[in-house]
Amino acid sequence: MSGSDKRFPLPLSSVVEKPPAVANGRKQPLARIATPQTATQNAVQNLQRAPQQAQAIRVMPAAAVPDAAPRPAAMVSQAVRAAMVARLAKQGIKDGKVLAAMEAVPRHMFIEPGLSSQAYIDASLPIGHHQTISQPYIVARMIEVLRAGPNGAAMDKVLEIGTGCGYQAAVLSLVAKDVFSIERIKGLHELAKANLRPLRIANIRLQYGDGMLGLPQVAPFDGIILAAAGLEVPKALLEQLSIGGRLVAPVGDRRQVLHLVERVSKFEWTNTQLEDCHFVPLRPGVV
Ligand code: SAH
Repeated sequence: MSGSDKRFPLPLSSVVEKPPAVANGRKQPLARIATPQTATQNAVQNLQRAPQQAQAIRVMPAAAVPDAAPRPAAMVSQAVRAAMVARLAKQGIKDGKVLAAMEAVPRHMFIEPGLSSQAYIDASLPIGHHQTISQPYIVARMIEVLRAGPNGAAMDKVLEIGTGCGYQAAVLSLVAKDVFSIERIKGLHELAKANLRPLRIANIRLQYGDGMLGLPQVAPFDGIILAAAGLEVPKALLEQLSIGGRLVAPVGDRRQVLHLVERVSKFEWTNTQLEDCHFVPLRPGVV
């Protein structure tokens, strides 16, 4: 456990940015921002089409929180995120709270600067150590499935296996009371810590270790998300689900399917196969 949360007491929501400056009752002319990035251009075109609920939260890097008017770069990143959320809604994500969380978390801050122009396209991207940040759609989809259970809105404790760069943990932090996330690669555990630090999220605890073992000392969890695919769901994780809790995991090798496991009682779990997906492999041990 990093224990670093104590040093960063400000919640992500405390770096909420003011909406774009209003001139004569109209939004500033975003379309005039000159940029060669296609994603940005699309975002500007799509901005007006983004769902209302998704525009409610505006977050930017803590280091860049404005004291006066928002700067063009921040406006561009907001616009591109709004467009990403509009796309997610078109792809079938319906949970307003998940869409708002996806719009709030600055995905570009979890990606190396050389790739940040691609931060809001719907693709997984390399984060080093042969691992990837998951594509936005699957991040949103897994969290939506997690929240659709009987305990739904009341997700107290959530466990993520595979912190990677920390992006999904940040999104989860906006829909769950406490988020625990385990990473088996030391370098990525450190990367996630560094990525999350400026966001000052108080309710994430990062753990370096083998996520296949879960966190028995913290269990039971209302929700467990695996960001890496195994041939089956580790038994230890099933045992660490609360009754009524939900686990979402990619299962398979070449062909992977997203599975939803619900714990019905002390000795009973149900398993539903949802859709095809593609994740990096779940591996035992630490490196
Ligand atoms: N959650 C990330 C996705 C990271 S990719 C995101 O927000 O985009 C999946 C991660 O799972 C990799 O970093 C990989 O190292 C990690 N992983 C694989 N097997 C694991 C295990 N047994 N325990 C913990 N992490 C594991």
